[in-house]
Amino acid sequence: MLRVGQGFDFHKLVSGRRLILAGVHVSYEKGLDGHSDADVLTHSVMDALLGAAGLGDIGLHFPDTDQQFKDADSMELLKKVCRLIREKGFEIENVDITIFAQEPKLHPYRKTMEDNLAHAMGISNDRINLKATTTEKLGFIGRREGLGSSAIVLLIQKH
Ligand code: MG
Repeated sequence: MLRVGQGFDFHKLVSGRRLILAGVHVSYEKGLDGHSDADVLTHSVMDALLGAAGLGDIGLHFPDTDQQFKDADSMELLKKVCRLIREKGFEIENVDITIFAQEPKLHPYRKTMEDNLAHAMGISNDRINLKATTTEKLGFIGRREGLGSSAIVLLIQKH
């Protein structure tokens, strides 16, 4: 049985925070604000996985009111999500991600991000595709006030 899932996330860019995307520290003058490490890319992937498996969303599993998730490493949360979906008998066929960022240029980090995600998810990196786009300077992303990410995954139920 095939199951598709989508995930979206947005976070605000602020001074004094590190910019972490797919577990990679990206060199930039601002970082994303949030309760955890605010890894918007990884959050969108987790929501897509949970959605496909019918397991709700990350707010349900890792509430931002819970102090144990303060400054949490989202790559560790992603590993937990992958354990949950495998417990339900699912395997990951592929993941396609689009990150929305006016700045910074993410191309130099693309391969490392894909490798990081593949490692955390326990799949080969050819099952992950990461894309980036600007919003042509439109809206809050165009004004460099925040970043967004969209992910879609396909799961196969093995048992
Ligand atoms: Mg988030």
